[in-house]
Amino acid sequence: QPRLRFAPSPTGLLHLGGLRTALYNYLMCRKTGGTFVLRIEDTDRARLVPGAVENIQDSLEWMGLKPDEGPRYGGPFAPYTQSERLDLYKEKAEQLIETGAAYRCYCSPLRLELMRKEAVKRGEQSRYDNRCRSLSSAEQTAKHTAKEPFVIRLKMDPHVYELQDEVYGPTSLRVDQEGDPVLIKSDGFPTYHLANVVDDHEMRITHVLRGIEWQMSTPKHLRLYEALGWKPPLFAHLPLLMNADGSKLSKRKGAQEIMEYKKLGYYPDALVNFLTLAGGGFHRNEPISNRLYRLDEMADNFDLALVNRNSCQLNFPKLEEYNRQAVRLRLNSPPEKAKFLAEVQRVVKEKYGTDVTAAVVRHVVEWAAESRLTNINDLFAADLEFVWVSKPRDEKAGEPFTTETKNLLLRVADSMAGIPDGLFDRSHVQEHLQTVVTEAATDLKKLMHAIRLAVCGVTKGPSVGEMAEILGQREFVRRLRTVGM
Ligand code: GLU
Repeated sequence: QPRLRFAPSPTGLLHLGGLRTALYNYLMCRKTGGTFVLRIEDTDRARLVPGAVENIQDSLEWMGLKPDEGPRYGGPFAPYTQSERLDLYKEKAEQLIETGAAYRCYCSPLRLELMRKEAVKRGEQSRYDNRCRSLSSAEQTAKHTAKEPFVIRLKMDPHVYELQDEVYGPTSLRVDQEGDPVLIKSDGFPTYHLANVVDDHEMRITHVLRGIEWQMSTPKHLRLYEALGWKPPLFAHLPLLMNADGSKLSKRKGAQEIMEYKKLGYYPDALVNFLTLAGGGFHRNEPISNRLYRLDEMADNFDLALVNRNSCQLNFPKLEEYNRQAVRLRLNSPPEKAKFLAEVQRVVKEKYGTDVTAAVVRHVVEWAAESRLTNINDLFAADLEFVWVSKPRDEKAGEPFTTETKNLLLRVADSMAGIPDGLFDRSHVQEHLQTVVTEAATDLKKLMHAIRLAVCGVTKGPSVGEMAEILGQREFVRRLRTVGM
């Protein structure tokens, strides 16, 4: 039975790159009937970000990628947080020392630093010279009894490792020239390499699906499996996510954290389709952009061998398009639509402190859905503010309405109320206004100005006809009457 894991380090909130990895692991599990494990790799104590562990789990749940096992969910291999499994790593490291595959290294940070500086001076890559490999056992014992601080290193000689990468195919990886890698640091915490391999084995992981940036580490992992006498899992690496122009994804270029996308009004189904469009990996005959795929459909179509190998360029305009579709999908389903409208009402209350009626919300959302609704937040753009806050008049432009103007506004209100159902659009509004102007022998421009102030409280913004359409007949008439009274 396949077992896959998503193993983030809580060194930041979950962002697009991490989400993509989690998503592909999830799809592979659903495709194969496997188990999706979440493991928190928190052994780099200096880089921990408070709240990250909760954020990662919240984000996955919001996205619909709930793990089967993990810190929040338990499971047969708990605990799923590495800092709670330290004894296990120590035990395995000791075992490696006993079999001669690893050794204690007593080199001081100062010596390592000097070596690094020398290497930089020579223009070379710094590497550990493996000096402590050749400590005599007498020296070892002396240092050990003197309780000198040490790290544990894995013996690793230059060698080319052949990796059968499930995405990239056969790949030759040369062990990097950095000297014997550390397994246990002087603070007693394991490095990523040791903890990752031990846990993948202990948790019976069958497929390791992770970002390409970890492919370079795979030789160390393969060496560890070999030294521990374990069978390695299958490895598959996913290409780097990039912007459409090939540049690195960065916070500067827009949102990246998943919960931030949520705040910005994006939906999980839009994000998932956006990521898989770039990542590939599906048997599909129809162009993917035609509609949003559900996770279960994606899983059915998933094939690791079809995952893109090279560019994973994210097409951000596509995210907008998918989100527009996601909004539409919700508005087409009555219960989802009710939720959407309630959410609009809630935001209005929170943002503007006003209570708008459900009827107005419904009307405005339906109007917007015809023209501009890509994101719920489009409803709160500056040019629609008048919908949610109707001030009686613009403070800057505002003198109180004269009785004459009020009467005129009431006349307009009556005329507007007389437009038959279904015909309340800008051209009919215009026509009726013209009639009022002629009958009352007044000036059209002045009247428009008064209506605008009465209805939306500001002198700028959409045309009166458009305002009428956006607000709908009832609300438009109501606002005119409120001021006219
Ligand atoms: N902890 C690593 C990370 O933060 C996991 C890499 C792996 O999946 O092996 O991405």
